[in-house]
Amino acid sequence: QIVTETTPNLVRLGDAAQAFIARNRGLFIDGEWHQREARIDVLDPATAKRITTVARGNAADVDLAVAAARKAFDEGPWARMTPAERGKLVWRLGDLVERHADELAELEAIDNGKPVTDARWGDVAFSHELLRYMAGWSTKLTGETIPLSQPSAFHAYTLREPVGVCAQIVPWNFSFMMAIWKVAPALATGCTIVLKPAEQTPLTALRLAELVQEAGFPDGVFNVVTGLGEEVGAALAAHDAVDKVAFTGSTEVGKKILDAAKGNLKKVSLELGGKSPMILFADADLDVAIPAIASGIFYNMGQTCTAGSRLYVEESIAEHAHEALADHAKGLRIGPGLDPATQIGPLVSAEQQDKVLGYIRSGLAEGARLLCGGERHGEVGYFVQPTILAETRPDMAVVREEIFGPVLVSSTFADGDVASAVREANNSIYGLAASLFTQNIDRAHSVAKKIKAGTVGINTHHVIDPALPFGGFRQSGWGREMGWSAIELYTELKSVGVALNC
Ligand code: NAD
Repeated sequence: QIVTETTPNLVRLGDAAQAFIARNRGLFIDGEWHQREARIDVLDPATAKRITTVARGNAADVDLAVAAARKAFDEGPWARMTPAERGKLVWRLGDLVERHADELAELEAIDNGKPVTDARWGDVAFSHELLRYMAGWSTKLTGETIPLSQPSAFHAYTLREPVGVCAQIVPWNFSFMMAIWKVAPALATGCTIVLKPAEQTPLTALRLAELVQEAGFPDGVFNVVTGLGEEVGAALAAHDAVDKVAFTGSTEVGKKILDAAKGNLKKVSLELGGKSPMILFADADLDVAIPAIASGIFYNMGQTCTAGSRLYVEESIAEHAHEALADHAKGLRIGPGLDPATQIGPLVSAEQQDKVLGYIRSGLAEGARLLCGGERHGEVGYFVQPTILAETRPDMAVVREEIFGPVLVSSTFADGDVASAVREANNSIYGLAASLFTQNIDRAHSVAKKIKAGTVGINTHHVIDPALPFGGFRQSGWGREMGWSAIELYTELKSVGVALNC
């Protein structure tokens, strides 16, 4: 029994989740659990108390895990399975995730702090549907026959093959769902995996390893090494026997991944930071726009890569819109993630709380006007009130930099000046997501076309679906996850030419 602190939050954790924590899983390598003496504390962000500890893996553990994944890819039964057999396993994993959805959601809520209702119906529900969606691709990885452009006696075709051993490094904000975004297409295409969850939120990745084993995947196909980014993550990104690294996290670390990956020129896909704009036109339906904008920024306490963190409002409705948004924000229910009524949980860590409060102070010092929030909430845990700063300027740090917390910065544009709204929306090093709110269909589509972002929502903000490509322009990343695009990230295309000698 390694639960060292009994907290009110832990008491509310269901039996299945408690039992998982008590199993005290180590590293998952080649179908077996390996304990390590070096440990990392896992904290409950609602109480700042320790839930448990996990193994702190190192570069030698990465070598073991990569060797297991290499063997499973090159020799194991996995490599000989038919696409249909592989697809069935991925589908079965989706079923298991759904069967254990409540437990997974509770683990995510206590590990990350997020509202358990969001974890259950957002993160976990999306994950089992994505697994099923990707399972369907397993049997459809076709090549093409290509009519050649030069006169030659070839019959030519392409084969689509798995890219190989994949290192997958994921962040803490949607730890389970980010893992599934990468694991599902990798398994569907026949790759093997070494997954590294964020050090703040390792629990659901370890539970996933149990489910992978229960589903019946051969040993070595899926491995989990918990540990620190600079130790485990860096060793994975640099490893010569890894064929591809897929990373979700900050732009800063994304650049380090690129550097590390260049040794063997492994394939790289990156989902990085954002500072996504939302444009509110005066003709918008505010009954739709206000809750959508609030959820655009406050969902997951703003710790969302696509968070709509910059608002541009047409001047004539600014006062009314700001008031309505502030009222909405003040009405959000703040509490521990495990409480099903909670809408705003704690941030993930003390470090994140300090960072976000620091940004709020900097915005106010630079002249922004506080519409609501602005403080930590309560004495215990890492809570920050939903905060709106108005009258912000493009040069302020709060407008330029990713805060990754429940902080909306807002400014206005002159009535009818669509060009300046678009210009400011595009005034960022990032380009992950954006949204615009209007009832004018011409304007909606013409502005959507001009926005530099991987995803644009019209009269909504967060637009994600297993079938819809997701990724960033500019410094928000390389490549697109989900949909067919994810299959392309995990496969190589081979051209074969057959001489026709008669
Ligand atoms: P982070 O970059 O600090 O960490 C992400 C992961 O990388 C963690 O597992 C960490 O241990 C690991 N890591 C850290 N240093 C490393 C190194 N030198 N080498 C290899 N791995 C290393 O990010 P975070 O703070 O966990 O997450 C927040 C960031 O993630 C935000 O910037 C957010 O925008 C971004 N994010 C992007 C998306 C997207 O799809 N674009 C989704 C979620 C989060």
